[in-house]
Amino acid sequence: MRWQRTLEKSVEIRGAGLHSGREVTLILHPAPENHGIVFHRSDLGSVYIPAHVRFVSAERSTLSTVLFDGQATVQTIEHLLSALNGLYLDNLVAEIDGAELPILDGSSRNLVSAISEAGIAEQKKVQKFYRVVRSEEFVSGNKYLSVEPSDRFEVDYEIDFGPDLVQRYHFTLSEASYESEISRAKTFCFESDIHKMRAMGLARGGSLANALVMGRNSLLNPDQQTYADEFVRHKILDFLGDSRLLDRPVVGRFVVRRGGHAFHTECLRSLWEKGSLALSVPKPLSTSADQAQVSGKNLLPLGQ
Ligand SMILES: [Zn+2]
Repeated sequence: MRWQRTLEKSVEIRGAGLHSGREVTLILHPAPENHGIVFHRSDLGSVYIPAHVRFVSAERSTLSTVLFDGQATVQTIEHLLSALNGLYLDNLVAEIDGAELPILDGSSRNLVSAISEAGIAEQKKVQKFYRVVRSEEFVSGNKYLSVEPSDRFEVDYEIDFGPDLVQRYHFTLSEASYESEISRAKTFCFESDIHKMRAMGLARGGSLANALVMGRNSLLNPDQQTYADEFVRHKILDFLGDSRLLDRPVVGRFVVRRGGHAFHTECLRSLWEKGSLALSVPKPLSTSADQAQVSGKNLLPLGQ
């Protein structure tokens, strides 16, 4: 069990969007209990879009995750949501004066620092989770995702870009593990794709300072690399962000192969819509009452 958490005070972050190249100001504000995570497009007045999978625009979410509420979009939300998931932040307004969040150094390290600088405040209500109650498998082309019940958030992720670039990493979420194992993993791309992305109007804010760029055989900017297996760690960073697109955190054991934003969010949406998630207040697995909860007896059906 844990209490809901928000920021102690507001904190401001400036930077350019990875795809738009546009300079924006992002201000993270504290929010009351049960508020959840909501984006505010302050450049459009009072446009508020909850960080929820029902607002994900599947057709726009190819190289980043995009929310669309019918009138406005918020793009590249996954690194902020990843930091919020990793640091157990539940209630917050993310105010932004443009359509795309800043890419910063391509990881979530600066967001983690900004949140630490603002401080984290415990609130007066218990945070409920979504617990995966049924094992599920999803396949789309060569992409694969499975999930089974667990009392923690765990993910076993594999990327496969050919025989010389297969990476695999197993991650179990805890506040300390997020910061040390995941938060510094930068986004990446292939030099051969840059021209194509630019032609599509994407990656205008990309540079050798905010993305690892893979050339024909090696990285063009190895000085920017933190981890030897940084690509797969960044995919986990993204997955943590995408899986925070419900109104509360999820616990379960995930296996993902060759995932991407559209696939992650499609699977999450399906779990949510099919009732494979149930509200739960996790407790230590030490008493018989807790064991009963794991077997599903204390679970509330979705929507109650
Ligand atoms: Zn990313």
